[in-house]
Amino acid sequence: MRLPVAIVGGGLAGIAAAIRLVDAGERVVLLESRKKLGGRATSFVDPRTGETLDNCQHVLMGSCTNLLDLYDRLGVLSSVQWHPRVWWANPPREPDVMMPRWLPAPGHFSLSFLRMKFLGVADKRSIARAMWRLIRLGAEGRSQWRGRSFGEFLNETNQTVAARELFWDPIVTSACNVPCDRTDAFHAMYVFQQGFLQDSWSPVMGLSSVPLVSLYDPAEEILRAGGGELRLGVSALALAFDGRRVTGVVTDEGMIESSSVIAAVPPDRLVRLCSPTMRAADGRLAHLDEIQFSPILGVHMFFDQEIMRTPHLVLPGRATHWLFNKGVDSQGRSHIHAVISAADAWMELDESEIVSRVMNDVHWALPHTRGLDPVGFRTVKEKRATFACIPGIDDLRPPAVRDGIRGGIDNLFLAGDWCDTGWPATMEGAVRSGYLAADGIFASIGSTKSGGLIPNVQPSGLARLLGL
Ligand SMILES: Cc1cc2nc3c(=O)[nH]c(=O)nc-3n(C[C@H](O)[C@H](O)[C@H](O)COP(=O)(O)OP(=O)(O)OC[C@H]3O[C@@H](n4cnc5c(N)ncnc54)[C@H](O)[C@@H]3O)c2cc1C
Repeated sequence: MRLPVAIVGGGLAGIAAAIRLVDAGERVVLLESRKKLGGRATSFVDPRTGETLDNCQHVLMGSCTNLLDLYDRLGVLSSVQWHPRVWWANPPREPDVMMPRWLPAPGHFSLSFLRMKFLGVADKRSIARAMWRLIRLGAEGRSQWRGRSFGEFLNETNQTVAARELFWDPIVTSACNVPCDRTDAFHAMYVFQQGFLQDSWSPVMGLSSVPLVSLYDPAEEILRAGGGELRLGVSALALAFDGRRVTGVVTDEGMIESSSVIAAVPPDRLVRLCSPTMRAADGRLAHLDEIQFSPILGVHMFFDQEIMRTPHLVLPGRATHWLFNKGVDSQGRSHIHAVISAADAWMELDESEIVSRVMNDVHWALPHTRGLDPVGFRTVKEKRATFACIPGIDDLRPPAVRDGIRGGIDNLFLAGDWCDTGWPATMEGAVRSGYLAADGIFASIGSTKSGGLIPNVQPSGLARLLGL
């Protein structure tokens, strides 16, 4: 019997690769150093209260076709709650609502956009001008912006200060985890072209109705039923390399021999697993230590009364980007989760200072809460939350599978949101990379079971006609 495929890392990339391989009859051993699956998209038990909290709210979109396919394979699709409306705080008025209406894409947001009151006429005109330019650029025009900043594009389209601060920055910073001026224009444009403009399903927001960690519960049984194994709490120490091929994984519990290896760990971890000889033999490993990271801050707050009626709120122009209404916890407290992307300036602050600053934004967005403080809180700093999606990043991102340009060790496959998938650092990007790595394995053993990626949502006829 052929040796199993070893997958190092039980985040979404590793889970996706494992499930895809097992579904096609391959035997895998999935190694994860923590005692749970999910990597950065998971949950933890708060020792202060015993509550299971997500490390941060994770948002998916209708455009996340491969992530949804994985949820389907895991049997957890019904745990995704869909939110076609996005609420934008506009105090003291009621929040503005952005939602797709009956007009065909790319006009589907026009009606709600025209009604949004937090932007003035000149701001809306400048945003419409940039959107039109994005539509006409299409995919080809977008590629020509690779390596430049989205801030340059906003300058070229004469955006007003308010349009930048209240509209572009909150969306781009949340999606790419770096502010507009630092974001690679290719990726920011992709978010708008593919995620907002081309059809009306892609921008619909999905949120898990259960703790993230529960979404992965079925994985262990699926692996076992396929003759594979999930080994939690086992750390890879090195990838074993005989000068030509990887022969397995050296772990803190001994050597695991394998037919091939999928390394599904972040780049700073992968560096530690590869010997200099190995890195010299595989051009995909050349730039691992040049990839920069960007932090995200999540703040769980608990109140003794309901403070928010909408499921979420964007806070345009504020330091806090989003508030999510997580409902009532087991102790009867109202649970609000605040998210700050590109949170460099917050990383050295202590918890009480963070909560005080976030509460300032809560009081701004929800004026009836002034004078109210949370009865409990928990902050989660993720210093290396995602790779920094800055100009030049795509030159550093390797493909999952060896290619003619960079070469690569035949039976070593890479996976992780940082691999070259065309997506920013997202759950969808991670799953895509896992599926691509699994496909690489099918190709290497001459299997016809390769499934390829799940295709993108198709643009509407009108969007296609206009160039998207
Ligand atoms: C705070 C925060 C908010 C986010 N919000 C969103 C969002 O709203 N929407 C979205 O789409 N994405 C979001 N992301 C990004 C998303 O979480 C990631 O893109 C995705 O989870 C990455 O998955 P991965 O499998 O590539 O990597 P990881 O999740 O990092 O998985 C790697 C795994 O490898 C394990 N590992 C590392 N070293 C070893 C070793 N030596 N041996 C064994 N195991 C090892 C780690 O423990 C980890 O479980 C967010 C990320 C963060 C941090």
